[in-house]
Amino acid sequence: MNAFGVPALETLICELTKLPGIGRKTAQRLAVFILKSDAEYAGSLAKAIQRLKNETRLCKQCFNIAEQELCAICLDKRRDSSKICVVEDIVDIMAIEGSNEYRGLYHILGGVISPLSGVNPDDLHINELVNRVKTQKVDEILLALNQSTEGEATMIYISKLLKETGVHITRIASGVPIGSHLEFIDPATIGRAILARRDL
Ligand SMILES: [Zn+2]
Repeated sequence: MNAFGVPALETLICELTKLPGIGRKTAQRLAVFILKSDAEYAGSLAKAIQRLKNETRLCKQCFNIAEQELCAICLDKRRDSSKICVVEDIVDIMAIEGSNEYRGLYHILGGVISPLSGVNPDDLHINELVNRVKTQKVDEILLALNQSTEGEATMIYISKLLKETGVHITRIASGVPIGSHLEFIDPATIGRAILARRDL
C-alpha cells in the first residue's frame, strides 16, 4: 500500500516512521487507524503530543521529565536522597520504578560514552553527576546502565571520576543479560538485580 498520492496521509506516515521501532509498514497501519478513527480521537492524540511538549521540561537536578524545576521523584521527601541511581534515559527510570525495589533518586546521563558514534563524556550529564556527589549528602551511586560495551566503559569512566569523592559505588547485578536494555526486562528481574547490586 502507498499513500495514494494523498499528501496528508503521506506526511503522517513519514512523521510516524521517525518514531523508534516504527517501520514503514507499521507507520502505514497506524496512519490508516487514525484516518478511520473519529475526529475526537485524532484531536485528542494531537493535543496529547502537543501538551507533552508544552507542559513538560527536564528536571534541573536529575534530567527526568518534570512539570516544575524539579521532577516528582526529586521533590518526593519520602525518597532516600542519599542514593542516586545512574541511568541512560527516562525509559530506564520507568523500568526501575516498575520493579518497586528502589526508593532513592536518579540521574539521567542522556546516553553512554561512544567514541564511534561521536558521543564524548562532555555530551552527557556526567559533570552534573559529579557536582551532585560533591555538593549533596550522597552515600551511594548505583550504576544501572545497559550492559553493552559502551555501558561498561561508561560505568568504569564514572567510577574512576567519582573515586576521589569516596562515595560508595555499586552496579546492578547479574540477572540482567549482557547487551540487553533495561526497558525490555521484566520488573521482577530488574528488582532482583537492584537488590543484589555489588560494589564496583
Ligand atoms: Zn529530578
